[in-house]
Amino acid sequence: MTSPRRCFIFGFFFLWLASLSFASAYNARPKLIVVIVIDQFRGDYLERYRDLFGEGGFRLFLDHGANFSECNYNYANTRTAPGHATLFSGAYSDGHGIMANEWWDPQKRRVVTSIQDDQAKLVGVNSSAPGSSPRNLLADTLGDELKLATQGKSRVFAIALKDRAAVLSAGFSADGAYWIDQETGLWITSTYYRSELPKWALEFNDSKRAEKYLNQQWKDSNGNALRTTTPPPGKEAGFGELVGSTPFANDYEFDFARELISSEKLGDGPATDLLVIGLSGNDILGHEVGPDSPQMEAMTLATDRQLAAFFDFLKHQIGLANVWLALSADHGIAPLPVVASRLRVPAANLSAAQLRRQINQRLSEQLSPGHAAEYVKTLDYPIAWLDSEAFAAVKIGEEDGERDAGEAMLRAGFRGYYTRAQLARGDVPNTETGLKYLHSYSPQGGWYVMGVPAPFTVGISEGTDHTSPYSYDTHVPLAFYGLPFQPGTYRTHAEPVDLAVTLASLLGINPPTHAIGRVLAEGLAVPQQDRSHAMGNSR
Ligand SMILES: [Zn+2]
Repeated sequence: MTSPRRCFIFGFFFLWLASLSFASAYNARPKLIVVIVIDQFRGDYLERYRDLFGEGGFRLFLDHGANFSECNYNYANTRTAPGHATLFSGAYSDGHGIMANEWWDPQKRRVVTSIQDDQAKLVGVNSSAPGSSPRNLLADTLGDELKLATQGKSRVFAIALKDRAAVLSAGFSADGAYWIDQETGLWITSTYYRSELPKWALEFNDSKRAEKYLNQQWKDSNGNALRTTTPPPGKEAGFGELVGSTPFANDYEFDFARELISSEKLGDGPATDLLVIGLSGNDILGHEVGPDSPQMEAMTLATDRQLAAFFDFLKHQIGLANVWLALSADHGIAPLPVVASRLRVPAANLSAAQLRRQINQRLSEQLSPGHAAEYVKTLDYPIAWLDSEAFAAVKIGEEDGERDAGEAMLRAGFRGYYTRAQLARGDVPNTETGLKYLHSYSPQGGWYVMGVPAPFTVGISEGTDHTSPYSYDTHVPLAFYGLPFQPGTYRTHAEPVDLAVTLASLLGINPPTHAIGRVLAEGLAVPQQDRSHAMGNSR
């Protein structure tokens, strides 16, 4: 039997041991993690422009970080909302439920966005538009797991020009998600997060920082004017339209990010904080000019300088030894079809509206001769959203209706198709492509058919687009900077789902609920204790 005195001493000893191990594990963690997600930043840009980058921007990752150069999305939903949901849930659409930016809602009988929430209202702007929330997410995120592990002590924020990029990166439990009102340029949020903007954000908006970026000329490094943010004479134009496709949009985002870090004292709390910055300007420009244009090069080099300045701010504010950084993108982009065609690569600008008419015409001839019906409600190339009521009127159920639509899509030039019913059953060929479409499935949004597009075809008459299962859309950067990473270029298989899983593992917390990624162990530095242990074993 142990005496109370011995018990007391042992108790103290174990308490001391426990506090020691907690302290040492805790000290290995960073004060702040910043994840930069560049909207439409293709995986090959880092190599293409490497020699043109300055110090401390992208080269912080390339020269001093762990750079996974062969990172590809393993699904077909290469759009903004699914991309951000994938990066932070560590799962694909079949896990997190976000398969598109918007979809046809059969109950509401209208198109809804991935983050639209009729229960919520926008905060920070006078608008009758519905608010936003992550309620359509079917999985939690890295930020949520950080919150759960620290009982809310970690602070989690996401900002972006686009609402969906901010909301889906932030997850359910975030302290804030902020995005830019397209009309006014004001930073806004939703009542899901808070009923009014914090004082610092109100002051930021009141300082009219958005106006600083109007009536500006964007020039390349040779001084050539590329674009202006002056409204065309006699025409009203919103902030998004004027500034969105220039580097000024990203400048404005970094202004806000700096203000957020200082005012919320990120990196100064009792637990690791997380900030996601979604840079959206690159995507808006890229759709217009394509990935191979001089403007895109100038935009990428501007992003490089902006990152260098921001990382310098982090260095002075928090110290880079206390920060982990990660870089990725939500999707890539197809070359402009005209550019690919010039090189004799088969490519085409297709009109989604025309394709939809063609498919509906064929379905009407087959299912309701003499009566033209809108069986395909919207065609967000290459996904067709079907009107179940139109099929019900001719007594056709989901299985047959989706197959009929798929066959009509084949005849309109699609390479193949996967129906919602088929994907829900997991009924796909046991191939790499089959797996990509299995990962693309979501139960949300009523009946649909995912068309397999011909490579280098886009569903818009001008410019270019993404949303294919092909490398130009799936290949994105994935790079890390910080003490736990072993600098180098890693050409091993990597996927965006690995980001949240790797960071969660390093933090010693659970990965997000539906995560399927792997820990990118080859890019990790061997910690001191493990190294001495390994050496001891080898003796
Ligand atoms: Zn886009």
